[in-house]
Parts: sequence; structure tokens; C-alpha cells
Amino acid sequence: MRRLKLVVIGNGMGSVRFLETLVAGGEHGYGITVLGDEPDPGYNRIMLSPLLAGEIPFSETVLRSRQWYEENEITLHTGSDFRVVSIDRLQRLVVTAAGESFSYDHLVLATGSHAYIPDIPGSSFEGVVPFRRYGDVEAMLSAAESGKAVRRAVVIGGGLLGLEAANALNSRGMQVTLVHSQSVLLNRQLDAYAGQLLQDELESRGIAFLKPKRTACIEGCDGRASGVGFSDGSSIDAELVVFAIGIRPNTLLAAESGLACEHGIMVDDRMLTSDPSISAIGECIQHGNETFGLVEPVYLQAVTLARRLQGELQPFVSRPSATKLKVSGVQLFSSGQFQGEGRDEVITLKYSDAGIYRRLVIRDNRVVGVLLYGDTSDGAWYQELLESDQDISEYRNTLLFGSQFAAVA
Ligand SMILES: Cc1cc2nc3c(=O)[nH]c(=O)nc-3n(C[C@H](O)[C@H](O)[C@H](O)COP(=O)(O)OP(=O)(O)OC[C@H]3O[C@@H](n4cnc5c(N)ncnc54)[C@H](O)[C@@H]3O)c2cc1C
Repeated sequence: MRRLKLVVIGNGMGSVRFLETLVAGGEHGYGITVLGDEPDPGYNRIMLSPLLAGEIPFSETVLRSRQWYEENEITLHTGSDFRVVSIDRLQRLVVTAAGESFSYDHLVLATGSHAYIPDIPGSSFEGVVPFRRYGDVEAMLSAAESGKAVRRAVVIGGGLLGLEAANALNSRGMQVTLVHSQSVLLNRQLDAYAGQLLQDELESRGIAFLKPKRTACIEGCDGRASGVGFSDGSSIDAELVVFAIGIRPNTLLAAESGLACEHGIMVDDRMLTSDPSISAIGECIQHGNETFGLVEPVYLQAVTLARRLQGELQPFVSRPSATKLKVSGVQLFSSGQFQGEGRDEVITLKYSDAGIYRRLVIRDNRVVGVLLYGDTSDGAWYQELLESDQDISEYRNTLLFGSQFAAVA
């Protein structure tokens, strides 16, 4: 029996989880070809932070070896030659940068997203890097390991990625300044109190902070970065400038082929795009009004699609995901609507000597937001309460003290 041709564009985290689920389900009836534009087989992008910090080698991040692809009869092509540059939906084929074409019966777009670098003077200088790919980590490491006595880095963006990059470069011996446009670090995950606890900890490690500050330009000469200029006229020296101010879904390929796109490639609950022969998963998509920046929903989309291709329909439902900061020695957990609004009840616990802070937001006897700093051992429990929409009135008074106390209340 002729196998249908399945082509997957992108070999990132969503793509690998999709392939794993598809082959684990037994005979699937597809001849699979994967085209990824990075040089290596799909790796755990999340681990780029510990990799940059020197805590693990790259080999530990690779999700599946080339042998695994061979054993599962998946043809994997990687490298810039295999970057897909166009999709011909009429002929059902994709064309790579090297001019090779691959025909498909069904196409999966798993193109992820890219780091946003603003179009300001000097942003294309050498020494200005995003934090998205293994190649970016290599560029940062070569700056960190240059023979100069003082190696200065400026990290722009006080979100999760910016803080992880700043901490990693600091632990590599660079003189690091983190620039953030808001007054609170991790302002999407933390309130002002927890943000200050985090800042105190990172300052004690040697990282300097400039905030709120707006970056106006990258200074430099001969095409090389030498500093960062701000909107208030001040500036700071730096040989390395890392941008971590957000991501944008990779939609260009899909949009140019006429697929419906807004912020991301539009998909329905089955991960189907506006073309019934093309599905899409991961950070490149938009589901309803939502785009994605964490791996948990991406994995769920990958499984939804793999099962659908095996005839099992299980619609994708978006759920709130928790965030953790991967900075060793810093415990932080944030999920849901931790700020609270209107008549929400906000309960907090501060144990300053131990650097512990908890904030819970309760709405109609349900946990709708959680913020834990210093001790996150109850994070999974609070997340379960949040996701299950459980009525907590029974252990309302001990809720803040965690699962052990609530269980005996
Ligand atoms: C440093 C860092 C730390 C992170 N930490 C966390 C964390 O702690 N927790 C968490 O939940 N999430 C984290 N994330 C986010 C997480 O990595 C992403 O959610 C996840 O990788 C998304 O998977 P994806 O498959 O959609 O995209 P990606 O993993 O980005 O994969 C997309 C792949 O497609 C390739 N591609 C794009 N266009 C083409 C083309 N035209 N042709 C061929 N190939 C193409 C890309 O190069 C890439 O290899 C982190 C991300 C980074 C960068």
C-alpha cells in the first residue's frame, strides 16, 4: 500500500514531540520527511539557558539522535540548505533554500518563532545577538571567552529569557548589566515585592540593573557594537548586546503561500490551517486570539495533531501554564492571574528572613493566580487547584501554608 507523504517543516520541540507521538502509536501510514534549518537534530531549546551557564553540554540537549530518526524511518534533513523558502499549495510541494523540492500529501508547519530585535540604529552590528538558537549561544560564548580583561555584556529585557541570559553570562565571568523598560523585573510573572527579592538576589551575584530604561540605539564603530544608548541620552559600554524582549511567530512562509494568518498561523481545535492539507503546531500558530511562548501547550498541540492523523479526534484546549525561572538557586513559580482584579481576594505571606513570599488570588472560592518566591515546593499543588477550578472554601484558612496543612485542616 502506498504510504502518504507527510512533510514536517521545522525540527524544534513541537516537531519532535509530534514525531514521537506519531511513531509511538504504531503503523501510521505515512512516509515522513522532516526539514529543519538548524544544523543539529531537534534539541531542548529550554536547556539553552543552563547550556549558556556552562551547566550542561550541548549533547545533553539533543532530543533524539539521528539514529532514532533512521530507526523510525523518518528522513531528517537539517541545515540552512533545508530552510523551506516557499510552499506551492496547488502542486502540494515545498521548496528549500538550495532549490530542492519535496512533495506532500499532508504538510505540518512547526516553524516556531524568532526573537524580536527592534529596528533601531546599530541593531545589525556584530556583537548584537538574540537568544533563541544554539547558534546564538555559541555567539555569546565566543564573546564571553574572548581574551579581553573586561568583557561587558548588556542584556536588554527583564523577562524570563533576559534574566536567564544575564545570570548565565555573569556566571561565565562577564560584567553584566540588565536593562528593562519596566520598573519591576519579570513584570508579567511577579509583583513589585517579589521582583525586588529577585533583583536583590541577582545584584548580590554581581549583576547590575538599569530600569526603567528605553533603548534608543546600539553604539559602535566599523560595524561592531561598543555600547547601548538610551532614550534619556545616557549610554553604557558593551561588547556584547543580547536582545530578549519578546518573540514573534514565524508566519512569513505560511502567509506568502496564502494561508490565513494574524499574529500567528490560524488553526482550529484540530490544528488544521485554512488549507485542509496543511496543519500547524507550536509557537508559529494562533488558536483563537492566543499565541504561545511556553512548551507545555506546544506539546499538547503536537499530541493533538499526531492523534488526529491516526484517526483519533481530541480537540486542543488551551490551559494556563506555569512559569519557572531557570536560574540556579532562585525558586520562583507564577501561574494564572497573580495580580488579581476587582473584587478578587489577594492573600500574601512574607517571611523576609528566609526570602519566602507567597501570593494567592482567590475568585469565587477558586484559586485563579499563584505567585511563589523562595519556596516553590507547593507549586504543582496550587497549579492543580487552579487548573481543576476546585472550590477551596473547605481549607480556605490554611490554603496559604500549602498542601500539607490544607490536607489536615
Ligand atoms: C533560551 C530559552 C529558554 C526557554 N525556556 C523555557 C522554559 O523554561 N519553559 C518553557 O515552557 N518554554 C521555554 N522556552 C520556550 C520553548 O523553547 C518553546 O516554547 C518551544 O521551543 C517551542 O517549540 P516550537 O517547536 O514551536 O518552536 P522551536 O523549538 O523554535 O522550533 C522551530 C524550528 O523550526 C525551524 N524553522 C523555522 N522556519 C523554518 C523553515 N522555513 N524551514 C525549516 N526550518 C524552519 C526553526 O529554526 C526551529 O528549529 C524557552 C525558549 C528559549 C529560547
